[in-house]
Amino acid sequence: HSGFVAIVGRPNVGKSTLLNRVVGQKVAIMSNKAQTTRNKIQGIYTAQDSQIVFIDTPGIHKPQTKLDEFMLKSATSALSEVDAILFMVSVRDKMGPQDTFILEQLKQTKQPVYLLVNKIDTVHPNDLAPFVEAYQAKRKFAAVFPISALEGNNVPELLAALKQHL
Ligand code: GDP
Ligand code: MG
Repeated sequence: HSGFVAIVGRPNVGKSTLLNRVVGQKVAIMSNKAQTTRNKIQGIYTAQDSQIVFIDTPGIHKPQTKLDEFMLKSATSALSEVDAILFMVSVRDKMGPQDTFILEQLKQTKQPVYLLVNKIDTVHPNDLAPFVEAYQAKRKFAAVFPISALEGNNVPELLAALKQHL
């Protein structure tokens, strides 16, 4: 099982925290390319039976400038080349325009989109269902994973699901 997985989400939802947790091997080759114009390979998860290359796509936000527009095009075209997309949100922050903009960009993608609801360590379990339902009302997800990138809850299950798919 091997393939490419893109992780998208507004700033501060916990993308880097998750990647730091799952990725053993950082990819240095591309790190000095301008992060502004490239979808950066963030690292590789390697297990005995699988290898998953994670890609960070920082350009997916409402464009304000010509450069933003270019970045958005570059980021969305990179999304068409991956095997699966992880859309990460934080249960601490209610759905806002940055989240819905990303959802809009994900409309055209053919790949499975997984919803990662991060920071579940910060809320009461009862608050989770309504939060998830608000997103499920927006689109169909291949699967939903409530996780804590910080504490690791449900992260092995997420990796197992990705391996299944790849
Ligand atoms: P990114 O901008 O999406 O890459 O977000 P970061 O990974 O930089 O995380 C932003 C902040 O959220 C940091 O202070 C993290 O420590 C915190 N954070 C990330 N994941 C979790 C989580 O699962 N639980 C809690 N409580 N905090 C988290
Ligand atoms: Mg980050």
